[in-house]
Amino acid sequence: MFILDTNDEVPKPFHADLTGAPMTNCVLCNCEFEEFTDYLIEKSFRRVNSGVVHTIFEYAICLDCVPAMQGRMSKESQENITAYFESKVNIQQRFSTQFELNQFDAEKWIDHCLITNNPTDQCDEFQIYGQFKGNRMVFGAFPYAISGQVLDEMIGLLSAKSLDEMNGFKDQIISPDPTLKELFPTNRPPILI
Ligand SMILES: [Zn+2]
Repeated sequence: MFILDTNDEVPKPFHADLTGAPMTNCVLCNCEFEEFTDYLIEKSFRRVNSGVVHTIFEYAICLDCVPAMQGRMSKESQENITAYFESKVNIQQRFSTQFELNQFDAEKWIDHCLITNNPTDQCDEFQIYGQFKGNRMVFGAFPYAISGQVLDEMIGLLSAKSLDEMNGFKDQIISPDPTLKELFPTNRPPILI
């Protein structure tokens, strides 16, 4: 179940920090996003001592390339992640509740961790995920945020080989500010869920 946003505009938190505008291309095949292209966005944030939140990485990936990215994880690792999610959250129920409360207000869907419910403004690290069709957000399983605490639990479910493979993907990902690479958590790969 999903509903297309009535606004033809990518919500601000999903814009590229690099350009201040919506993302335009797939990180893997480099296809350009057109009016009806389906794609996902993942952005990773870290709060530093001063309280400032930095974007650690950001990328968009077209749905055609998602299987290739997921294929970097072993079948067992993928199953572990899926089972973890299914045991923690009922996505269908969450969609109904969020839509009733917040409709197309994307920021309210991503201001707390999907699993722990902790507000992201109290998380040192968190990632946001969104699905889009052209400039329109797809409200369904997405959008959501995941706290660093939960990401760590998920990493514990990946095999060493899967973790290596996912880390290999990092090099392809755009970091808005290359000096932030040192903030990139060494053991935390992008995880597309
Ligand atoms: Zn692609």
